[in-house]
Amino acid sequence: MEKIKMKTPIVEMDGDEMTRVLWKIIKDELICPYIDLKSEYYDLGLANRNATNDQVTIDSANANKKYGVAVKCATITPNAARMTEYDLKEMWKSPNGTIRAILDGTVFRAPITVKGIEPYVRTWKKPITIARHAYGDVYKNVEIDVPGPGKAELVFTGEDGEELRETVFDFKGPGVLQGMHNIDKSIASFARSCFNYALDTKQDLWFATKDTISKKYDHTFKDIFQEIFDAEYKERFGKAGIVYFYTLIDDAVARVMKSEGGFIWACKNYDGDVMSDMISSAFGSLAMMTSVLVSPDGKYEYEAAHGTVQRHYYKYLKGEETSTNSVATIFAWTGALRKRGELDGIQELTQFSDRLEKAVIQTIESGKMTKDLALITTLPDVTVLNSEDFIKAVRATYDALSYM
Ligand code: NAP
Ligand code: MG
Repeated sequence: MEKIKMKTPIVEMDGDEMTRVLWKIIKDELICPYIDLKSEYYDLGLANRNATNDQVTIDSANANKKYGVAVKCATITPNAARMTEYDLKEMWKSPNGTIRAILDGTVFRAPITVKGIEPYVRTWKKPITIARHAYGDVYKNVEIDVPGPGKAELVFTGEDGEELRETVFDFKGPGVLQGMHNIDKSIASFARSCFNYALDTKQDLWFATKDTISKKYDHTFKDIFQEIFDAEYKERFGKAGIVYFYTLIDDAVARVMKSEGGFIWACKNYDGDVMSDMISSAFGSLAMMTSVLVSPDGKYEYEAAHGTVQRHYYKYLKGEETSTNSVATIFAWTGALRKRGELDGIQELTQFSDRLEKAVIQTIESGKMTKDLALITTLPDVTVLNSEDFIKAVRATYDALSYM
């Protein structure tokens, strides 16, 4: 069969450890046999980030801006142990943080649902996508350990010297104090990324804050979302048959639990941090979560939500058999190729992505899966496959689907 041709390259960001091993097998078995792959390759493996003083990460993010679509492998965020392990010149920053800052993007995480891996919440029939605002609030706070009695004040000094002042609390004894901020521009980018992604995926968008208690801070989030929605998106949402829905965060949590799923839940930074862990474990497995970074001007970076699966990599290095789940990484590839196909009007590329995802799901539903899923599945007859054999099984399913 002739390979599918591409017009514009996708940006390929290679990564570390076990996911780097899977990356190569996925390309060899599932992508390159079918697609005349055009990609601009960046090696974000820690050794190369160190060799280039992390310039490669910045270059890859700029390429993402230029071409619009990237697929990223999981990467190590260095800590003290990695400094010695990789003999690093510096404790390089998290690549995801660097890329997110350059694209000014929002991360959307969605579970891949299959029969046999059942959500712990009985009512959930469709995936719930979490959108997390990735700037500010408690993650950029300043704190004071209050030693004893005294007055705490919040002071803003304008460039013109004008002061705004509020008493936070008159302390009679020791306590704690915290200052947080956010920026209208960042909230607006977050809102636009969410509205665009809702239109893109034809799902309702929910947003929630605690605006009844936080009448300025949280209320600003609510207002910015509403203003942008009314001015730029209301009509398009109407045409697409989807809704934007705002409610209080506690009401949202209660509704999510009783919902069927199938919507995007936009969360402030802290809510998104906490709720995305709840959603991914309630859907069954971190290895089945996809993640896409979407910028307000429509640039996309697809990846798996999990890390580099270090423990499996060390087994692999010792020559032991591994059974690492490649599903989220395969879906990162199909996500990127589908988006490339949509943007360039290449139907074969979107069809390929749909069919490969279908092949992954059918393979698992037929009982062939990696160990992590075998441990939690409700399917009766299961064959546990190793890392490579699972990918080969997906290829066989894909080929069978192609001849149907
Ligand atoms: P991890 O790679 O997500 O793995 C944690 C554990 O979860 C694994 O040991 C494994 O459990 C299970 N797991 C995760 N993904 C799996 C998969 N695909 N198949 C099977 N099991 C899977 O997290 P980590 O080990 O804490 O972090 C390793 C490195 O990843 C760190 O250096 C961190 O900086 C990096 N990281 C990168 C990203 C990113 O690039 N987006 C995100 C998170 C972490 P068992 O061992 O019980 O089998
Ligand atoms: Mg968290």
